[in-house]
Amino acid sequence: MDLKKLRVNGKRLRNSLEEMAKIGATPGGGVQRLTLSAEDKKARGLFVNWLKEIDLACTVDEMGNIFGKRSGKNNHLPPVMSGSHIDSQPKGGRFDGILGVMGALEALRIIHDSGVETERPIITVDWTNEEGSRFAPAMVGSGVWAGKLERDWVYARTDIDGRTFGEELKTIGYMGKTSAESWPVHAYYEYHIEQGPILEKLGKTIGIPKGIVCLHWYDVYLEGTANQVGPTPMEGRNDALCAAADMILKVNALPTKMGGNMVATVGEIQNEPNSRNIIPDKVHFTVDIRSWDDDLALRAWDELKRDFLSIAKTRGCPIRIEETWRVGHAPFEEKLVRRIHDVAQELGYSNHVMVSGAGHDASYMSQVAPTAMIFVPSIGGRSHVEVENTRWEDCEAGANVLLHCILRSAMEE
Ligand SMILES: [Zn+2]
Repeated sequence: MDLKKLRVNGKRLRNSLEEMAKIGATPGGGVQRLTLSAEDKKARGLFVNWLKEIDLACTVDEMGNIFGKRSGKNNHLPPVMSGSHIDSQPKGGRFDGILGVMGALEALRIIHDSGVETERPIITVDWTNEEGSRFAPAMVGSGVWAGKLERDWVYARTDIDGRTFGEELKTIGYMGKTSAESWPVHAYYEYHIEQGPILEKLGKTIGIPKGIVCLHWYDVYLEGTANQVGPTPMEGRNDALCAAADMILKVNALPTKMGGNMVATVGEIQNEPNSRNIIPDKVHFTVDIRSWDDDLALRAWDELKRDFLSIAKTRGCPIRIEETWRVGHAPFEEKLVRRIHDVAQELGYSNHVMVSGAGHDASYMSQVAPTAMIFVPSIGGRSHVEVENTRWEDCEAGANVLLHCILRSAMEE
């Protein structure tokens, strides 16, 4: 058989995505499939059934990661892996994560239908809790598997109702017996929507990220002096919210000031007592800085910290800063990045080399295995919202690129 002629079944891929979108469907056209919820359980059940339909050997590990394995000629050789996540954001979209799981499944279905025998085994995977919105932090399934996070620490994480990750994993019946420990992997491909506007703007079908930007998180706590707003003159106030406002604008101006490829965002703020007639005396806000250049992000933070301290002083508001989380930028395996480019070219899909501004399970995977990602355009650049959308033709195109990348890696001796 001429392997080059193989193509995924776009209609079947679309059907699978539509079936999955029914589980946790929201009135606004999105999905809500929070990790370890009843919806997550139902979607996992469907996924496992589909794995069995094409005779994949299915295992669930102690983190609830689900693997479906197809044997190769040489099963002692490290396998090729591909997958993503089934869970979603609250009121999230129908493509984030699930496209990479259904895309890999479709690739395996076609390989199954055609009876191709590959040199290496191929494994598809659903990683538990990529989103981190019910249980923080994100990407814990792949994080524990890659040996970068502690299993018991993750088990003890609680949701807003105080339920632990470990209990909920047991409740939905997905605490498997196999230990969540990485094995040698020949290549890991993750297929995902772009979640940004670049591909659409350029009119390109396939995005080829050369890696994932660094991610630096900070928490800022400010104190002011609470007082009745009427009788207290403007002069001499210690208004913690005004100090925060000055700082937030500094964050927004930071990327332009520093130059280079960087974004900086304040996305969360708590103001106390949050009353219209009391001067705010306690404010907490978060800072998120991302860049392809780790040093630039660190230099930017130094500048920002200096500005914060001077604003706090001027406003008379004591400040406490926590440097919460730093993950360095994750470059992908050059050979695999080139392969995705070559395959896209050969299949006649326009493409663009870029960086990923969002974190993915591929971040942890890239620390233990040769890893790369395939992106397709997000309509309007929208993601993590109910209107998240990707054209069916693009879903099919990305899956074809994935199929041929998997085949090439799986045929390597
Ligand atoms: Zn995702």
